[in-house]
Amino acid sequence: MKLDATDLRYITSDEFRVLTAVEMGSKNHEVVPSTLIVQISGLRNGGVNKILGVLAKRNLTAKVQNSKYDGYRLTYGGYDFLAMRAMSKRDSLYSVGNQIGVGKESDIYIVADLEGNEMVLKLHRLGRVSFRAIKEKRDYMGKRKSASWMYMSRLAAQKEWAFMKVLHEHGFPVPRPIDQARHCILMEFIDAYPLRQIDEVPSPGKLYSQLMDLIVRFAQAGLIHGDFNEFNILIRRESGEPIVIDFPQMVSTSHENAEWYFNRDVECIRTFFRRRFRYESAIYPRFKSTLNEGGEAEFKLDVVVAASGFGRREMRVLEEYMESVHKAEGSEVEDEEGEEDEEEEDEEDEDGDGAEHGEEGSTTHHGLGAHLPDVRSSRQSRT
Ligand code: ADP
Ligand code: MG
Repeated sequence: MKLDATDLRYITSDEFRVLTAVEMGSKNHEVVPSTLIVQISGLRNGGVNKILGVLAKRNLTAKVQNSKYDGYRLTYGGYDFLAMRAMSKRDSLYSVGNQIGVGKESDIYIVADLEGNEMVLKLHRLGRVSFRAIKEKRDYMGKRKSASWMYMSRLAAQKEWAFMKVLHEHGFPVPRPIDQARHCILMEFIDAYPLRQIDEVPSPGKLYSQLMDLIVRFAQAGLIHGDFNEFNILIRRESGEPIVIDFPQMVSTSHENAEWYFNRDVECIRTFFRRRFRYESAIYPRFKSTLNEGGEAEFKLDVVVAASGFGRREMRVLEEYMESVHKAEGSEVEDEEGEEDEEEEDEEDEDGDGAEHGEEGSTTHHGLGAHLPDVRSSRQSRT
């Protein structure tokens, strides 16, 4: 889908009001009855119907007729619009450029502020693929069920934002967080290549230690990345410095499966270095000794995050969702929505060594949304 920031500034206040009314109504209704939209917006009936037509034409809402009543639902585009408009109102975002990543559960765009400074906009798309597969099975959000994709995408963005902020504040090499609204995060653009695309480094041993040290630093601050792999490590073009991204699946070292997540992160790096750089080391961090050697850390970031507004309850809801998606993926139920899925299929394996993914059980990618489509088929279950 095309994002257009110039569009953001062309919406009348009544149109905006109606669009917001559709969003509010979506919290309790999968299809928001037109009468309810009129009620929430507080505008005249005739006016609202006309505006609903305009919004649907712009694909911000979609008319749904084949239900018990006539109504509308907010589209991804409508939700994007609301989020980007909020950022634009705060002057953090001004224009939208190219899409640089299509993940299973995120879209990544280059955007800019008023001065033309480049940034990265990450739009979370939970529920794009497997939502229907799990929706019936569990009752995550009670009444919020109907707004599940919006709700889950927003939770993922809030979690990623909360983690990126504390990590950045505590000097971890992560992009500088700039703004967050609804399901979107705005962050510093890193001029880098994903490690996945790098065939040679000056010193694999040095990079290996840097990455293992990062895993240790994370753990001693109370955190495990949970998706620490060659896709989520960017290597700065200038300095070769590794930058870590993609945090919606981070867990605390006090999580019941912490050791398992920790080992998986370590294994990801070991396996990648063995395959890509033929580099192997007997030295790698172990969970228990890492925590013991850490002594009394100055800060426990898992605690800091929990206190920052993204609490345990939200964490739990998101975690359950992710677990069931990965389980449901075993039975591969496709999305009927199908809005944006076609273009994903056309994405190419950027570095052309797709064969690697075919190796049964070899892939270590598993997190939310790889940006390369070939990885999706080999995604692992988290449990
Ligand atoms: P996903 O959840 O889809 O895996 P990521 O956050 O990992 O999303 O981002 C996907 C891709 O987008 C990354 O592999 C990277 O190539 C690019 N990307 C993401 N964030 C940035 C950033 N801040 N600067 C530069 N590139 C980025
Ligand atoms: Mg990623």
